[in-house]
Amino acid sequence: MLGEIIHRSKTRPVRVGNLTIGGSNTLYIQSMTTTKTHDVEATVKQIHRLEEAGCQIVRVAVPDERAANAIPEIKKRIHIPLVADIHFDYKLALKAIEGGVDKIRINPGNIGKREKVEAVVKAAKERGIPIRIGVNAGSLEKRILQKYGYPTADGMVESALDHIRILEELDFHDIIVSLKASDIRLAVEAYEKAARTFDYPLHLGITESGTLFSGTIKSAAGLGILLNKGIGNTIRISLSADPVEEVKVAKELLKIFGLASNAPTLIACPTCGRIEIDLIKIANEVEEYLQNIKAPIKVSILGCAVNGPGEAREADIGIAGARGEGLLFRKGKIIRKVPEETMVEELKKEIDKLAEEYMRK
Ligand code: SF4
Repeated sequence: MLGEIIHRSKTRPVRVGNLTIGGSNTLYIQSMTTTKTHDVEATVKQIHRLEEAGCQIVRVAVPDERAANAIPEIKKRIHIPLVADIHFDYKLALKAIEGGVDKIRINPGNIGKREKVEAVVKAAKERGIPIRIGVNAGSLEKRILQKYGYPTADGMVESALDHIRILEELDFHDIIVSLKASDIRLAVEAYEKAARTFDYPLHLGITESGTLFSGTIKSAAGLGILLNKGIGNTIRISLSADPVEEVKVAKELLKIFGLASNAPTLIACPTCGRIEIDLIKIANEVEEYLQNIKAPIKVSILGCAVNGPGEAREADIGIAGARGEGLLFRKGKIIRKVPEETMVEELKKEIDKLAEEYMRK
């Protein structure tokens, strides 16, 4: 039993654009674009959709010069910190930094000659941007694999420490670390060990987790353990899906652990033989509507009034179905009856009112 770690608030604060990562319990949602980065129009459009969904930091792949050249224009047109993902090529890293990125993801141990590493670190220092070290179980260094035989949590942390050491030797400390694996037990163990070993902020993720359905379950299972232990300063859900879905899943996960301060919660019954309304359709419509509400209100949708208002006493607003109509209630008290046809519209109006009241507070 490892017990509570509570690493999150004890990490070193690192600035990423207008955000401070680490040093508190605030956890930021990150995602990555799937467009070709050199296609500025498509990339900016996707980032705007991600921003709208609640993404707070966005990463773009920078595999070539065309992508690096697109950075200044992308940066100009978006509103959240931009991260450049670079593998090996220090020239691309320098170009991305010069182009105005707010963070780069590059492993210093993979850059090559010392002068190249120094050039990247110097540029990052001058611009005040952090470097994320991204350890991946699938691409551990040969030396580590030879030592441990196969990817292990110890090997992953050792790899992270090797990269960290290179930066620390150059007096660079604005570091964020991720230790991703597609095997959730391996990822969890690696993050736990890292949290016990150093105080740099941790970016959480389960890599190659799968499609929207299976990847959501896998990510929630693995990252839930870490969030519950107070580990993680930024989070990305990697899905083979529209990245907007990654943000939605991350938001939901943070809500479950009480780590999202401005997101509503939906409570819905599983339905049973007592049901008199089309609850599944209603719940889905309301869930969709809540995506754009930025207030921590609880909305409850129950199929019938048997346990209805009583069960949802904790909810700020809710509906309990009856034959062809519903009881609209607020804080467990019935406020009026509404016909099934206008139930969703009425509920949306009440949600808007509550959200406005919250904003005025
Ligand atoms: Fe069944 Fe009513 Fe409970 Fe829903 S709220 S599961 S319809 S008893």
